[in-house]
Amino acid sequence: MPTSLRRSWFGCSCLAAFALVMPGSRWPAVSGAEDAKPNTTVLQATEQEALRGVLTREQQARLTPQAVLDELLAGNQRFIKDDLTQRNHSVRIREAYAGQFPKAVILSCLDSRIPVEDVFDRGIGDIFVARVAGNFVNEDILGSMEFACHVAGAKLIMVHGHTHCGAVKAAIDDVRLGNITPMLAKIRPAIERGRPFEGKKASDNPAYVAHVCRENVRLAVEAVRERSDILRKLEADGAIKIVGAYYNLASGEVSLLP
Ligand SMILES: [Zn+2]
Repeated sequence: MPTSLRRSWFGCSCLAAFALVMPGSRWPAVSGAEDAKPNTTVLQATEQEALRGVLTREQQARLTPQAVLDELLAGNQRFIKDDLTQRNHSVRIREAYAGQFPKAVILSCLDSRIPVEDVFDRGIGDIFVARVAGNFVNEDILGSMEFACHVAGAKLIMVHGHTHCGAVKAAIDDVRLGNITPMLAKIRPAIERGRPFEGKKASDNPAYVAHVCRENVRLAVEAVRERSDILRKLEADGAIKIVGAYYNLASGEVSLLP
């Protein structure tokens, strides 16, 4: 492997699930609405108990796309503060066995430095996660998203890129090797069709890499709408929300892209 490829690719090392809060631990983040406005006084004991478990079909149906987005961003703030919800995974594994009603589907890069469930403080049964180096959309990813939203009832699609993406750097360098070549070709539209950039267009220019990473997310969001009649209609009907987001490897913070 050429040195430039090894450096570029390994710089990225670019790469789903469920939870129950332990007795005595703090309020579990299961429902978007409840998470945004925790008001335990109005909840019946049985409802509180339900919120501690894996999301049910009824709980999923009550969520709005905006509430799901708000919940994920609130979970990211807990991740940044190292305040993740304690979860009893063995109990949740048993609870989730019979079915799943996740609230969102997140398309992320392969990068090992981005543990998606942790990044949003989610557990077993909460979110679908699709991963591919460079977080681009293809037919298989679109099919997975259609399953997640149209069949399984998820309310939010998030394309989740990140800073210093090695796959994007490799695409900028026009790396060619085995099956990596056609994979990187799916990122190249962000280089060739992205919005204009003033400055040095090379992988050793962090500003340019950041620009292409963002364009790659933006084009993926556009591709979801353009290439999936099902998802476009769900969004038009207000049943789902489709957003682009960007993870900062240095801080752990997720920002929404305009
Ligand atoms: Zn990456």
